[in-house]
Amino acid sequence: MSTNRTFTMIKPDAVANGHIGAIINDITAAGFKIIALKYTKLTEETAGQFYAVHKERPFYADLVSFMSSGPIVAAILEKDNAIEDFRKLIGATNPAEAAEGTIRNKYAKSIDANAVHGSDSDENAQIEGDFFFTAAERF
Ligand code: ADP
Ligand code: MG
Repeated sequence: MSTNRTFTMIKPDAVANGHIGAIINDITAAGFKIIALKYTKLTEETAGQFYAVHKERPFYADLVSFMSSGPIVAAILEKDNAIEDFRKLIGATNPAEAAEGTIRNKYAKSIDANAVHGSDSDENAQIEGDFFFTAAERF
């Protein structure tokens, strides 16, 4: 069953480059409603837990180190067909392959520092949202 919700992070590169406002604007202009929102920072430990599914991938250590290198913005978003539409809005993992006008096309410079995260399934959106937000922090 679709939850019509997804989870996103604005990653340390996009925060450091001053793109928080522009990215949130793109997200809301595309019809997503903000259910929860937080400016925070992952530690190596919490970044490692969040990306545990990628533990065996060669880029895991660099990913954990990068994701804990500076503050991020975490959010739960709601829209019909949220997972698929948000993946479309952010574009391909590698910004060099991300379609014109997508968030990664506009704000990301490399595959490892690619500006935003977007959940890949309803199940993971639920797990990832729960990782950052209590029930009292969702509206
Ligand atoms: P996505 O974020 O598009 O869902 P993945 O889930 O495959 O992509 O990977 C998680 C994150 O790991 C990516 O967003 C990216 O930051 C990083 N990553 C993925 N593939 C590579 C790679 N080949 N080299 C470096 N970093 C990568
Ligand atoms: Mg992914």
